[in-house]
Amino acid sequence: MRYLTKSRFKLAEECPTKLYYTRKKEYPDKSVEDPFLAALAEGGFQVGELAKCYFPGGIDIKSLDYNEVLEQTNALLTNENAIIYEAAIRYKNLFIRADVLVKQGNKFYLHEVKAKSCDFDDETGFLSTKGFLAPAWKPYVHDVAFQKYVLTRAFPQMQVFSYLMLVDKTKTATANGLNQKFQLTKNDTGRTEINVTGDTSLQALGEKLLISINVDNLVSKIWSGSASKTPPAISFEKSILHFATNYETDTKIDSPITPDCWKCQFTCTPEEEASGLKSGFKECLQNRLGWNDAQFMLPTVIEVWDNRSKKKLFENGKIFMHQLSENDLKDSAGGTTLSRTERQWLQVNRTVNKDNTAYLDKVGLKDLMDSFAYPLHFIDFETSMVAIPFNAGRKPYEQTAFQFSHHTMDADGNVKHAGQFLFTEKGKFPNYDFLRSLKKELEQDEGTIFRYAAHENTVLNQIYIQLINDDSISATEKEELKSFIREITTSSNQLAEQWEGPRKMVDMLQLVKEYYYDPLMKGSNSIKVVLPTILQTSDYIHDKYSQAIYGKNSAIKSLNFEDDWIWIQKDANGKTINPYKLLPALFEGVERTEDFLTDSAYLADGGAAMTAYMKMQFSNMTKEEREALIHGLLRYCELDTLAMVMIFEAWREWIKESD
Ligand code: SF4
Repeated sequence: MRYLTKSRFKLAEECPTKLYYTRKKEYPDKSVEDPFLAALAEGGFQVGELAKCYFPGGIDIKSLDYNEVLEQTNALLTNENAIIYEAAIRYKNLFIRADVLVKQGNKFYLHEVKAKSCDFDDETGFLSTKGFLAPAWKPYVHDVAFQKYVLTRAFPQMQVFSYLMLVDKTKTATANGLNQKFQLTKNDTGRTEINVTGDTSLQALGEKLLISINVDNLVSKIWSGSASKTPPAISFEKSILHFATNYETDTKIDSPITPDCWKCQFTCTPEEEASGLKSGFKECLQNRLGWNDAQFMLPTVIEVWDNRSKKKLFENGKIFMHQLSENDLKDSAGGTTLSRTERQWLQVNRTVNKDNTAYLDKVGLKDLMDSFAYPLHFIDFETSMVAIPFNAGRKPYEQTAFQFSHHTMDADGNVKHAGQFLFTEKGKFPNYDFLRSLKKELEQDEGTIFRYAAHENTVLNQIYIQLINDDSISATEKEELKSFIREITTSSNQLAEQWEGPRKMVDMLQLVKEYYYDPLMKGSNSIKVVLPTILQTSDYIHDKYSQAIYGKNSAIKSLNFEDDWIWIQKDANGKTINPYKLLPALFEGVERTEDFLTDSAYLADGGAAMTAYMKMQFSNMTKEEREALIHGLLRYCELDTLAMVMIFEAWREWIKESD
């Protein structure tokens, strides 16, 4: 039986055509990731288990077999009262597994648990300022609306009350070691499981960190079509039946092509296509727009950096870059540095005219560089936000800063990996040790500090707030740490106190945006894209880092790389290998984590460090695995700050050449 389930309903709400491609071997689905990693990243499994603890005495339906789970659920529902985790409910071709279903006489209480934070306690929190369902909450509340529909149809004699159970970030944990009670493991068949250990009675769990918010009013509005400003073309019920019927008969529902199609998960690599697999994305564009192979090769407006007019351009029939004129992008006046739209036009112009020359505002950048104080400091943080706090006194999803790396460059251009920090202890809050260590390293001199993007400034502001609210630190030290943060940051607008530190960090990402563009970067300014571009285009960097100059006792001192490490190495085709892919030893001995840590896409978005840290915190691993992971994390973060050094060196040399 091809049932419309919760996840298929969600998929159909994104785009009904996706229902046709889903779970078909011939259409690869890029969103299918390792559930273990996904669970680590969002804390979903742990939150799910914690939710069950708040409904003690329930029965867990664990099987995956449709008939078996329906039988088990129905047997339990013959009782007057029941608490069921993962209850299975079917109505015709609709099928749901309810996270927590409580039956009391002729009443059902349905709780959908999400590892998503909220700071409100009633359903008005899900509304926009205009009183309609806010787009960010739509998928979650629609999910409950779908489940309530199925439950109500399957049991028309019952009264159904529906709730979204979320992580309440206004609450503070009162129990120590809460997250360690919910350790993630993979069982023998490779399935992700939670190993619940220790006392999980309501008393032992302390302050309740999840909140169930009743959404019955909103669900009624969704069913009647009045939850959104523009009423839907067909009713909620009709859309469910439409999706279910087409899914059951495996009929493709056609959908319009929008910019969101470029994020579609049903795509193929050329290699996959050559092996006989199909791209759902390509199929849609061929069918709806009649695209041929040549058109798929043309640059589109989707690739334009920070393009906020994609939707409008699509509506005007402008999908390809060559259809654009400067006026299509212009909405901000140029200043002394590149404006957003000037940069966009630079990209479009260079791309359409196949002009590979790079842009560097040497005069502007030189003026700025002359103002920097040596030694220069390049820093990078690794952080994570944990759903269930490590210990008492902490809130859900508080920022946790567990690692930094620090390179320096003196006035003569000498570079070294000057310092690092990695907090590996299980179950402890690392932020204050992190900050003490950072302070110790940066307060030695008055040199300019560089970060890449806003993250480091944001994290230090978050630690500032944590310090304000924490009485576990002496007043003297608290003031010292706060004053250090004020010195090197700009205040966030969440704080009443506002400042601009005299030594505030310089954002290299902003320098890239305002002074530098290379067509090789296409529409990205990520350091993971800028670094390979610099390696390919700067002769200075190429010559310097092709030599064995990096390591513990080499010319450029490293804290983690053995002697004579060579950063620029070529592949069989003579192409420079991305240095992030040169870190094989990073993962040695980490058998079960190897897949995700070596996956370049995963590494590229910086998720690997966070996941590795969470894995150390939340899951069981051997001593060897742990040590290998620590070693890997240190080297990975070291490369992040070295990348900043290389970009800076390349700019400096290009400026020197033109002097
Ligand atoms: S390419 Fe677009 S229309 Fe086709 S399935 Fe993906 S999102 Fe839907």
